[in-house]
Amino acid sequence: MSEHKPGFSTLAIHAGAVPDAATGARATPIYQTTSFVFDDVDQAAALFGLQAFGNIYTRITNPTTAVLEERVAALEGGTAALAVASGHAAQLGVFHTLLRPGDEFIASNRLYGGSINQFNHSFKSFGWNVIWVDFDDPKAIEDAVSDKTRAIFAESLANPGGVVTDLEAVAKIARAAGVPFIVDNTMATPYLCRPLDHGADIVIHSLTKFMGGHGNSMGGVIVDGGSFDWLASKRYPMLSEPRPEYQGMVLAETFGNFAFAIACRVLGLRDLGAAISPFNAFQIATGIETLPLRMRKHCDNALAVAKWLEAHDKVTWVRYAGLAGDRYHALAGKYMPQGAGSVFTFGVKGGYEAGIKLVSSTNLLSHVANLGDTKSLIIHPASTTHRQLTDEQKTAAGAGPDVVRLSIGIEDVADIIADLEQAMAGI
Ligand SMILES: *Cc1c(COP(=O)(O)O)cnc(C)c1O
Repeated sequence: MSEHKPGFSTLAIHAGAVPDAATGARATPIYQTTSFVFDDVDQAAALFGLQAFGNIYTRITNPTTAVLEERVAALEGGTAALAVASGHAAQLGVFHTLLRPGDEFIASNRLYGGSINQFNHSFKSFGWNVIWVDFDDPKAIEDAVSDKTRAIFAESLANPGGVVTDLEAVAKIARAAGVPFIVDNTMATPYLCRPLDHGADIVIHSLTKFMGGHGNSMGGVIVDGGSFDWLASKRYPMLSEPRPEYQGMVLAETFGNFAFAIACRVLGLRDLGAAISPFNAFQIATGIETLPLRMRKHCDNALAVAKWLEAHDKVTWVRYAGLAGDRYHALAGKYMPQGAGSVFTFGVKGGYEAGIKLVSSTNLLSHVANLGDTKSLIIHPASTTHRQLTDEQKTAAGAGPDVVRLSIGIEDVADIIADLEQAMAGI
């Protein structure tokens, strides 16, 4: 029995959780408390000095949040995880630990619009400089590496264009450059793709999307792959230099293969403060219990809708890596063989005006900025999520004027198609 390893669906339900020791409650209790009583003064001192693990204050740790963290770490195959308030807070936490002012990181130019904004504006004001590169061209990534590069960042399955990143090719470049490869796995989820198995060092998520899955709670997570050697260079002082506030402790020496997660917690969460609420952690951990069932249905429905759209006379193109003719179909087969997710784009005849008309005419499909919900969602990126970008950035990000993005839910697929059919008839 001890050699038997639980499968993905079992981990999604059980990882991190046991019946509550105090009450026997089978569901994870929501520890809605800010603070935890110390056993005595010595224990308090040990907790503050990082000599013992335990709860102090919910900004840093919380038992409900810990269930979520262990669950995601288990599903991604990481050594540890850190849950935070949102996907953007996860990105902030990761780069805060890796970068000093004047440092650079290389990012794929096809990312979630909010990430493009975060990197271009707030990160630049911290002196963290993003270098945008087309990740379909590995040579261009190599050429962008400089002595200031501290990380490489991409989405496994990119939002909104249905782009699949060649994870192993990018991981090889990151290894040669001696920098960690960070993958945003929001759109694929670990059910469809596990970037750490393909050479990534750190995985982040917006848990707000498919992981929580029901469009009701914001959250984010940082997963430490445990694979990166933080002591191999002097580039990552937060991990490799003595911390004055922790008795000169060197985090990478003391915490080994989960030092990155610890640094993001005891420096990042401590100082940046973007903690997740225990209630949201409970909602998301509960959502993850059905992740395998939901993702299977999301993928089946998305493929059926994509095929239907491909045959529609008002549709000029469909970009979904699950379709046999798609540019990214082979990469999807390699990195996400169980399905290419449920977010994809298509072009409507009539451009910007037709796109706006379409999103205003659906009934079952909601016009919202979210994705990864049980409910089917539709948006016109050029007029909403990507409107703050220049026209050039919009097109590079796969959000040109005629582009409509769908996040296909888990309703009956005939109803989704019927709604799109009636909305198409009006344009
Ligand atoms: C939504 C999203 C984010 C940002 O996450 P929030 O939880 O909204 O802060 C980052 N990356 C991707 C791919 C996303 O879809």
